[in-house]
Amino acid sequence: MLAHLLLEPGKISYEEVETPVPGPGEVVVRVSTALTCGTDLKAFLRGHPKMPMPTLFGHEFAGDVAFAGRGVRDFREGDAVMAVPTAPCKTCYYCRHEQENLCTTIMDNMVLGAYAEYVKLPAAVVETNMFPKAALARVRRGRAARAAVVRRPRDRPSARAPRRHGADHRCRRDQPAAPAWC
Ligand SMILES: [Zn+2]
Ligand SMILES: [Zn+2]
Repeated sequence: MLAHLLLEPGKISYEEVETPVPGPGEVVVRVSTALTCGTDLKAFLRGHPKMPMPTLFGHEFAGDVAFAGRGVRDFREGDAVMAVPTAPCKTCYYCRHEQENLCTTIMDNMVLGAYAEYVKLPAAVVETNMFPKAALARVRRGRAARAAVVRRPRDRPSARAPRRHGADHRCRRDQPAAPAWC
């Protein structure tokens, strides 16, 4: 397949690479739309500690399931999907306190490679943060959809959690320091 790689800050190549193959629980999505977010921009301009280069690039995307790995039950090939590019571990301090956005390992299995024909999603993302596009359509029509999609911002754990390890990071005595990447 053809993919964009970030070779070093400021330098992108477009080249042929191996098409990903899904392992157990994983899914390979045929990318139909890929967007650019601030993290992409920062990585392009100055690098990113969680994206050793050269790296497949891009992580905001939608598409359809091209290949589903063994054990994937909720999605079938051809399903139109979108996904959050990370998934919380559900076991660390922050996950146990409904602060999944500060999960200490959330970046370890980040989806990278949305600027390509296909992108592979790890099992944790497939299980927790991959959604059928039909769920969004239901939201648009005002009907009930999956709680993760429709919960109002103030109800989401991530909205209650401190967002940065800066002046507004309200640490508690028993709370470990926020991860350096946040
Ligand atoms: Zn992003
Ligand atoms: Zn966690």
